[in-house]
Amino acid sequence: MEGYRKQANQSRVKETGDNNGSKERFEGRIQEAGLTLHFFCPACFRGVPRAHGNCPDCGEDMDAWNASRSYTERLIHALAHPLAEVRMRSIIALGKRKDEASITMLERCAFRHPADIIQAMEIIRALENMPSSSAKTQALDALAEHPAHAIRKAVGRVPRK
Ligand SMILES: [Zn+2]
Repeated sequence: MEGYRKQANQSRVKETGDNNGSKERFEGRIQEAGLTLHFFCPACFRGVPRAHGNCPDCGEDMDAWNASRSYTERLIHALAHPLAEVRMRSIIALGKRKDEASITMLERCAFRHPADIIQAMEIIRALENMPSSSAKTQALDALAEHPAHAIRKAVGRVPRK
């Protein structure tokens, strides 16, 4: 009985989540634990009840925040996101864009989460694809001192020009 009621509640949450809101609003939504649906403020990353208007936490106008930043700037900002999968998407996208402006923040991201080997490996892959620059050399030199042995080893395999 109790179990049944729980299940009924869960499916109601899912239905509400799937049916209301435009496609644009839906994209801002992140499904956590298969149950709770909500948005994140693009500026402070706190969970917020809706994707538009002012963030109740930091007060930022969320649409204006997005509109005043380039796609690359937003990707770089997302490297500080608390969710690993959001950071991972940004790392992959930044690697494809090969924008030198992201190099230092990519390097810092690898040190902020020293135990996340998969993330740091993706950061090395992103850096490897970037054209040669002093920023790239500095980032690789720094990562050669990463606390994880696997990462130091991977940096050693990156061709240096
Ligand atoms: Zn906020």
